[in-house]
Amino acid sequence: MGDETPYFVSVEEALEIAAKTSLNISLENISISKAHNRLLATSMTSPLDDPPFDNSAMDGWAVIHQNTLSATKENPVELEIIGTVSAGDGELPPQISNGQAIRIMTGAPMPSGTDSIIQIEATMTNPGKTKVKLFEPSKPNFIRRRGENISSGDEIFPLGTQLTPERLGLCATMGYHEISAQKKLKVAIISTGDEIVPVGQELQPGEIYESNSHGLAALVSWLGHTPTIHPSVADDIPSLRKALNNASNSADIILTSGGVSMGEFDYVRKIMESEGQIHFWRVKLRPGSPPLFGLWQDTPIWGLPGNPVSSHVVFRTLVAPWIRSQTHASGPIETKIRIKLADPVKAMADGLTLRRLQLELTEEGLIGYVRTHQGSNNLHSLAIASALTLLPPGSKGEVGEWIDALLL
Ligand code: AMP
Ligand code: MG
Repeated sequence: MGDETPYFVSVEEALEIAAKTSLNISLENISISKAHNRLLATSMTSPLDDPPFDNSAMDGWAVIHQNTLSATKENPVELEIIGTVSAGDGELPPQISNGQAIRIMTGAPMPSGTDSIIQIEATMTNPGKTKVKLFEPSKPNFIRRRGENISSGDEIFPLGTQLTPERLGLCATMGYHEISAQKKLKVAIISTGDEIVPVGQELQPGEIYESNSHGLAALVSWLGHTPTIHPSVADDIPSLRKALNNASNSADIILTSGGVSMGEFDYVRKIMESEGQIHFWRVKLRPGSPPLFGLWQDTPIWGLPGNPVSSHVVFRTLVAPWIRSQTHASGPIETKIRIKLADPVKAMADGLTLRRLQLELTEEGLIGYVRTHQGSNNLHSLAIASALTLLPPGSKGEVGEWIDALLL
């Protein structure tokens, strides 16, 4: 690592540096049925008005408002029934005249000459169904007007919009059966360490199960991209070199875990110093201060800490925002909440402190408890936490203080 490599940078500086490394985002046309959670490759404009025609918001009668003004319970207005129109009807009943009513269903187009709806509950028909009595005036606002939701030509979603279920529905409303989506990014995940073994194998003395790749892969999927868990690598330079070369040939981004601290066996840092490019190393963040970011060959690489809580926190704090900004992604959204501390949280003097909190909703609002041991290896405490404190450098974190937290 050269003397000029940024070292122990703030979260903001780390994100600024990472932002200078761009990802190539390719596009593909996909079926709407495969588009859930995908990111739009271009902005989306509506080719039509929604609704496409004036239609009824109620089951009831389409009438001429002027004819109904005097209607009350005691003195109903009686109209002659001249037809029925239901949703999907292409052919409309004849032009309405004064003194007439047309039975209409929700979503059916407004027959010509009608200007209002009276809902079925406020009416009564005679046994022969030739006449209908109205017990109140009809309502013009029970008509859903052509284009009142969306006008043809409106830009509805900007590039990068994540297609949530609601948005996916709206794509169909606009008639899109194919979506121009960003190709999912391929993210290679490589865990390092002589002590880690894959689940499914028996542990020998001194070994622990490899857990980071599973958490990280799920985080990558949560962002809408494609994780590939590569075989874990022992702490030696040749194995690591081979794994990194392999990953950079097949992936858009490499995530490693472990081996980036100051230790003798922290070979990810060592190989990046001698054979890769490091854009920064170490961040003012707790837990999670050891990460590095740079390039292996031409592939962006995040060297995440080995401690499971740290790798998760660094992903949420640095990797996810970087990927999101590269893809202009509108989601998944990080939800910030305000909570009142029920326990003291020691904040770092010069960094962002993310402590695991359990939450309770009270009349006052959300209360945050630090009920668990906060070791960065204690994944259990993260697994049962609902939020992480976002304590700025030097803040007190006293009991009763209202602070920002990140909802998990
Ligand atoms: P390191 O940064 O490689 O020194 O790792 C820090 C701590 O995290 C050590 O206790 C490792 O055993 C542990 N660790 C590293 N990688 C993993 C992993 N993939 N899964 C679970 N624990 C890990
Ligand atoms: Mg290690």
